[in-house]
Amino acid sequence: MRLHLRGVVLPDDEVRDLWVHDGTISFEPVRDAETLCRTGWIVPGLVDAHCHVGIRYGGGHTDRDGAVAQAEIERDAGALLLRDAGSPIDTRFIDERADLPRIIRAGRHIARPKRYIRELGIELDDERDLPRIVADQARLGDGWVKIVGDWIDRSVGDLRPLWSDAVLKEAIDAAHREGARVTAHVFGEDALPGLIEAGIDCLEHGTGLTDDTIDMMVRHGTALVPTLINIDTFPEIADSATKFPVYAAHMRDLHRRVRETVGDAHAAGVPIYAGTDAGGSIRHGRIADEIDALAGAGLSRHEALAAASWRARDWLGRPDIEAGAPADFVVYEADPRTGRDVLDAPAFVVLRGRVYPRRDPVTGHR
Ligand SMILES: [Zn+2]
Repeated sequence: MRLHLRGVVLPDDEVRDLWVHDGTISFEPVRDAETLCRTGWIVPGLVDAHCHVGIRYGGGHTDRDGAVAQAEIERDAGALLLRDAGSPIDTRFIDERADLPRIIRAGRHIARPKRYIRELGIELDDERDLPRIVADQARLGDGWVKIVGDWIDRSVGDLRPLWSDAVLKEAIDAAHREGARVTAHVFGEDALPGLIEAGIDCLEHGTGLTDDTIDMMVRHGTALVPTLINIDTFPEIADSATKFPVYAAHMRDLHRRVRETVGDAHAAGVPIYAGTDAGGSIRHGRIADEIDALAGAGLSRHEALAAASWRARDWLGRPDIEAGAPADFVVYEADPRTGRDVLDAPAFVVLRGRVYPRRDPVTGHR
C-alpha cells in the first residue's frame, strides 16, 4: 500500500508531505499513492512505557488470544510501542504479527516469596540468587529486566524493601554486563536510595520520592515512569487493607502527594515517560488518560505528549518520523496537545505502513 499524507508533523510542528511505501516513510513523492489526509497532526507512534500484555484485567494471566486482544486495543489507541514491564506468559509470538504493536520485554518480574502479586513473578527464596536470575532474564528479554523493589511485608505491616543494597548492586551490574537496563517497581521511600545508588536505569511508580532521592536520580540519570492512572487506585488498595492500618495510611499519603512528587521530579530534570500499567488493575488502551494525567502533574501538554511519543521512542532506541524509518505513526484531526478528547480519538493509526481507521464508538466497526 502506498500512501500520501499532509499535515503538521510533530515534534517539529511543521506542515509536511510524507509518503509511505513498503512500510517505510519517505519525504520524496511516491507514484500512485493514495492520499490519506490533507490536514491533520501526525505524531510518532505512541509509547506505553509500562504495560503488561498477558496479564488479565482483574488478575491472573491471559491465553494467547487474550494477549492479542490487548495488543489490538493498544494499537487502536495509538500505542504502537509497548515496554512490557513483566509478563507471566511468553508473548514472543506477537513479534510475528505485523498488525500488532512492537513489544520491548522485561522478562518476568523478580520478587521474593509473599512479596508480590502471586503467580506473576519469579520468587527467590535466597536473595543471593538475584544477580544470576537477573542475568537470565536479561538474556530472555529485549534489553530490560524488572525487579520488585518494595512491597508490603505483612510481618511489619508496611512497605519494605525486598533486597539488601549490596545484592542490588551486584544484580544491576550483572544486567549491565548482559547489555540490559534494569527497572524496579517501587512505591515507598525506603527502597529508593539503594536502587538509585546501585545504578538502576529507571523506577516504576516512584511515589515515595523525596527531594533527596530526586537529587540522586538527577545525579545518576535515572528515568521515572510514574503510572499515574494506576496510582489513582491506591485509595482502593488502602480501603481493602483493613488488617494493615499503617500500610493503608502510607498508601493514602503516597497517593495524596503523587502529582506534586512527579512535578518536583520533572522540575529537577528527571526524565519522565508515560506508562499506564495496563494489566491486572488498569484496562488496556488508556495511554490518552496517562498523558492527560502527566499534564496535570506539572508537565506541559507538549512535554506530556513527548513523554508518550518521540522522547520515549528515543529513550527506547526507536526512530521518529524520518525518511526510511518504519511507518509507525498516529494521525489526529486536531492538535493532540489540546486535550484528552483529541488524543483518545485518532483519525488513523498507521503501523508498519498499514492503516487502521478509527472504530465507530457505538458499533465497534471501522
Ligand atoms: Zn506494572
